[in-house]
Amino acid sequence: MKYPLLVLDALFFLLALYFTWESIREDEPRAPKIGAGLAILSLIIAGFVLWVPAARWIFVLCFALGILTLILLAIPTKPDARALQGAQGLLVSEAVRHDERDISFARQRSIPPETKYYDEYYKKLHPEKEEWDAKRRKKGLLGNPGSIDKGYRPNVAMMAASFDMPNFLGPFADAVPGPESPPSEIAPQKATEIVKNLARQLGADMVGICKVNPNWIYSHRGEIFYDKWDDWGKEIKPEDLPPYAVVMLTEMKDNCVRSAPHTPSVAESARNYGRGAYLSTVLAWWFTHMGYRGVAQHSRRYDIALPPLAVDAGLGEIGRLGYLMAPKFGPRIRIFATLTDMPLIPDKPISIGVDEFCKHCKKCAESCPSKSIPMGDKVIYNGALKWKLNADSCFDFWSKVGTDCSICMAICPYSRPDTPLHRVVRWYVARSSAARKFFPLIDNLLYGRKWHPKPVPAWLDYPKGKEAKKESYGLGKSNNFG
Ligand code: SF4
Ligand code: SF4
Repeated sequence: MKYPLLVLDALFFLLALYFTWESIREDEPRAPKIGAGLAILSLIIAGFVLWVPAARWIFVLCFALGILTLILLAIPTKPDARALQGAQGLLVSEAVRHDERDISFARQRSIPPETKYYDEYYKKLHPEKEEWDAKRRKKGLLGNPGSIDKGYRPNVAMMAASFDMPNFLGPFADAVPGPESPPSEIAPQKATEIVKNLARQLGADMVGICKVNPNWIYSHRGEIFYDKWDDWGKEIKPEDLPPYAVVMLTEMKDNCVRSAPHTPSVAESARNYGRGAYLSTVLAWWFTHMGYRGVAQHSRRYDIALPPLAVDAGLGEIGRLGYLMAPKFGPRIRIFATLTDMPLIPDKPISIGVDEFCKHCKKCAESCPSKSIPMGDKVIYNGALKWKLNADSCFDFWSKVGTDCSICMAICPYSRPDTPLHRVVRWYVARSSAARKFFPLIDNLLYGRKWHPKPVPAWLDYPKGKEAKKESYGLGKSNNFG
């Protein structure tokens, strides 16, 4: 019994060391101490096993209990049948298509006061929104950009520079082949293989394909760029859009998101909007050179809500915080897409246990400074059973910090870096209902329930205290971000 116990204990020691090392790398304040404590505990156990034979049975029992727990947690439960239906599975009654004009950003940016659009929207369509929107509009889209870090200029400039990229590429979002480019006769299977690999080669971290469900297409255009005011309020007809979508996720780097709601985090959001604009536009133009239409979906052109599209393309499920939760990255992603009429082979929606995990976790809701994420149960909203984020109060908080906040994204257990340690936990959670109840408790124990911004690489670090006042830069209010 002595030697098998020592082997098990050595394994326990190595695991504790690995956990400590990973947690230090992730700049976790509490987890490394627990890891180091467990490593010391394993040394104490070794001492008992070697020199107190009578105590060995206790450790046999403890290790047996630990191994049994791991086995029980791995017993698979049935996949979530609703998740496997894709975003359509969220619908419990008939839904009307979302109107892009109702989105907070569109209302702030694309309904200028004293215009006919203003009268149309606030006098005819939504008078109840006028007062709140007028107050919010005065603050600017992100308030004073980077105000939480006194507008620290290097980081705010990073954000602004990256947000410029979608702006540059937006006019080329809709790529239509000319007569010199007849449709290629490529087989759908081959085309799918090439498209997915091309997207990854261009920099997408995950790629999926789906048929476009018309329910997710906006009913009317609401975001106006490049002075195309004639488009405001125009109906978007599903038949005018290509029927397939290549949906791409880009990972937001954990070493920036961990600073949320400070400026490194919004600089990283912006960098990803830049990446997404590039990815989706190149792909749109690839389709065109192959003789098909390609319509990039990025922050200068959305015809369709992207989270349900990503669910349909098998890239994740929707979490309590209202974002897509991807298997490898959780909500620490941005979504982009390219619509096309080139025939492709769609992927299938997946079930990774998000719904049940979120029921027990609630960390994002507890940490949200504007209380925009519900603590309670799902509600039916426009035919869909979901946790309904209050987008207006969330967006209002952005103007207080001058960033896109992202605390909910940063604290989510699914957002932890894609390391072997977290991959094992995700494997358990995707597989077993018991794990979805067990791991939220473990996550709280190891990482705490409250959000504290963590350190970032020195080159991204923003000045604090008195130093921050000295570095008091600022770009002034602007509505052109995002
Ligand atoms: S971004 Fe911030 S304010 Fe908005 S829901 Fe997340 S935590 Fe709340
Ligand atoms: S923090 Fe918890 S409740 Fe919120 S989305 Fe992530 S897993 Fe779900």
